[in-house]
Amino acid sequence: MPRVPHQPRVEIAVDLDVVSANVALLTERVAPAAMMAVVKADGYGHGLVEAARAARRGGAPWLGVATPEEAMALRDAGDDGPLLCWLTTPGDDLAPVVAAGVDVTAYDAREVAVLAEAGAALGRPARVQLKADTGLSRGGATPDDWPDLVAAAVRARDAGHVEVTGTWSHLACADEPDHPANDAQQDVFEAALAVMAEHGLDPGLRHLANSAAALLRPGARYDLVRCGIATYGVDPAPGAHDLAASGLRQAMTVRARVAQVKRIRAGAGVSYGHRWTAPSDTWVALVPAGYGDGVPRHGTNVLEVLLGGRRRPVRGAVCMDQVVVELGPDEADRVEPGAEAVLIGDAATGAPTADEWAAACGTIGYEIVTRMGGWRTVRTHHGEGTGP
Ligand SMILES: *Cc1c(COP(=O)(O)O)cnc(C)c1O
Repeated sequence: MPRVPHQPRVEIAVDLDVVSANVALLTERVAPAAMMAVVKADGYGHGLVEAARAARRGGAPWLGVATPEEAMALRDAGDDGPLLCWLTTPGDDLAPVVAAGVDVTAYDAREVAVLAEAGAALGRPARVQLKADTGLSRGGATPDDWPDLVAAAVRARDAGHVEVTGTWSHLACADEPDHPANDAQQDVFEAALAVMAEHGLDPGLRHLANSAAALLRPGARYDLVRCGIATYGVDPAPGAHDLAASGLRQAMTVRARVAQVKRIRAGAGVSYGHRWTAPSDTWVALVPAGYGDGVPRHGTNVLEVLLGGRRRPVRGAVCMDQVVVELGPDEADRVEPGAEAVLIGDAATGAPTADEWAAACGTIGYEIVTRMGGWRTVRTHHGEGTGP
């Protein structure tokens, strides 16, 4: 991180107490299913290790990450609880991951063989979870390939090199609760479990639900749910779900301090391409945060920020380093240079949320929070999880 001799230009403030509270709320909501907090991609932009600690404090028995590197970073930081990863690549050295007691997901028989070898070398079974592709057509074994994967797992188990700790899949349309793909995928998942029963293989923990399904589809919770976005208080299913009513709160606040305030004349074109022209004389503020810091360029002319106690519109194109915000025509609309603009924050503060920005930009809240950051930003953590 750069040395910052003055106040940070862009601050990403993460309230870890909010993360813990969200996890506690989800844990209670999904019981008797167990809660896995997903902290991949640097904790969706909130900090891998910090988010993981906050999630553990909130009572998450499980953590989930995509890659083995993410899993090992958590182990290196001292986390020794149940932890699943699900995205290995041929050539990954999985021996240390297996030795660290991480559950590794196998998509095919080749991966079972790699994990069995690691378990054999270690002298105790590798913890392996099997992934069925039930219709997302992303990772996992299709119904055609599933019997092969199950047979490989049975062989490795019988040799004492592998313990199957879980069996799982992932939904394509969980954020659309009425989409027929949800029922169809759950049927395929049930069929996959039946194949395991025929082979005499205990599936371990069965899990299917991400945040949206965990909240909206109780029948998909099985033994464990994998909640990523809801952990951070961003809506997994805008339109289908009422985040505020659920009690979940956005943990991330992004702030920047106004660099300049000035008056522009009617007819002045604003920012690259003059994609906005002032219809009348008005005050504008220059806010030093742009797409280099994670503000989406699709936010051109559609974003708002909270500045001087009220919402103000971004005018013209979002630049790499800055945006121009319109304050209004009157002297009373002005703010002082150095004033704090809240780009996104908790809805209760009146700030735009990540979900609101996402809707304006044609994306999802996941992308807004996960892409916030970069060399120029400073991420700070607040709440009890801040200590070592
Ligand atoms: C990212 C991810 C999740 C978490 O999804 P959310 O929608 O953020 O809750 C769960 N399972 C898998 C396989 C994932 O890749």
